Amino acid sequence: MIRVNSGPSNGSRREFVANTLRYGVLGALAAAGALAVAKRRRLVREGRCMNDGLCLGCAAYRGCDLPAALHARQFSERNDHAATK
Ligand code: SF4
Repeated sequence: MIRVNSGPSNGSRREFVANTLRYGVLGALAAAGALAVAKRRRLVREGRCMNDGLCLGCAAYRGCDLPAALHARQFSERNDHAATK
């Protein structure tokens, strides 16, 4: 008796669905990451704060020239000098 395979088996169909979901989720995560990076770059280019003024926890703190960061650094330096006296 000859069996004719008319379509994908259950295993390959399941693999196809699993791979579609897996790569769909990976694509969505990559797109979300790219959007976050693009937003951050746009804010920096426009000279706007990207961390709601929370300078001490901000990744850009050391190189940031925005007024909030300058003020936070001055405050920090003043406290460092006061602590060493
Ligand atoms: S260092 Fe401060 S002012 Fe600069 S982006 Fe970060 S939070 Fe905003």
